[in-house]
Amino acid sequence: MKLIVANWKMNHGFTEIMAWLQTYLEAVTNNVEALEDKRVVLCPPSHVIEYIDSELVASAMSYFEEEFKKEGREMSELTQEELQEMIMSTRALSLGAQDCHYRDEGAYTGDISAKMLAEVGCEFVIIGHSERRTYHGESDKMIAQKAKMALNNGILPVICIGEPKEAREQNKHFNFITNQLSASIPKDVDFFNLIIAYEPIWSIGTGKIPTTDQLQEVTKIIEDFVAKNLDGRVENLYILYGGSINSQNSQQLINTKGISGLLVGKASLDAEEFCKIAGLK
Ligand code: PEP
Repeated sequence: MKLIVANWKMNHGFTEIMAWLQTYLEAVTNNVEALEDKRVVLCPPSHVIEYIDSELVASAMSYFEEEFKKEGREMSELTQEELQEMIMSTRALSLGAQDCHYRDEGAYTGDISAKMLAEVGCEFVIIGHSERRTYHGESDKMIAQKAKMALNNGILPVICIGEPKEAREQNKHFNFITNQLSASIPKDVDFFNLIIAYEPIWSIGTGKIPTTDQLQEVTKIIEDFVAKNLDGRVENLYILYGGSINSQNSQQLINTKGISGLLVGKASLDAEEFCKIAGLK
């Protein structure tokens, strides 16, 4: 199962969102099989998560109504639970947030908690993105706390790591990545799914991507770290790559040994481009 995550960052108003969803949902309707081996997660700004969730439910309902009609059946045959189950299991898109707080509630102006995100249908949350680390001074310790809080609320954290240009140039990326892994993954937690997104800072928004060898070296660093330090505590490890992904390079990146998904920034804003990345077009 491959995981394709779209990070819209602080972009898109309602007009763009509606157009994006229309293009995306049309692509899914025309190519449902493309989602059989992958899960697509959209991380929009938090205030529109609930809106997008309701649009997805409405679209799923009208799809099932059509299908039932073709079979001469009525949707009213289903219990509320069966309907809910059917909608959840055939979601065209899962929803995620771009950050959460490390506490459930309190006097934290401008923040949002994992508990609140869970209430609006959020299943994933990006934690420790380099932009949060840089512009909001987030430490590894804080990131580990946030990841734990997400898990406590039934949300899967996508924990971001990645070295700056200088560390790569000075060949210090091994230590940098290992230190980040060691401090950003919560210590006292078992993971059914551990999702690590490798996003080298020198690649985000620059058009530069790592070579296959560089990427494989990093997936090996992450795998070795998990085997050595989280032995028996991780059931499934997902390593995503993020940084300057587009429809031209996405296939090569996702098929790199050790990579189980992509975290897409700018290119996810364009629905056509994102659908190509997700293999829907
Ligand atoms: C990101 O910031 O998570 C990212 C991957 O950005 P971009 O794709 O725009 O480089």
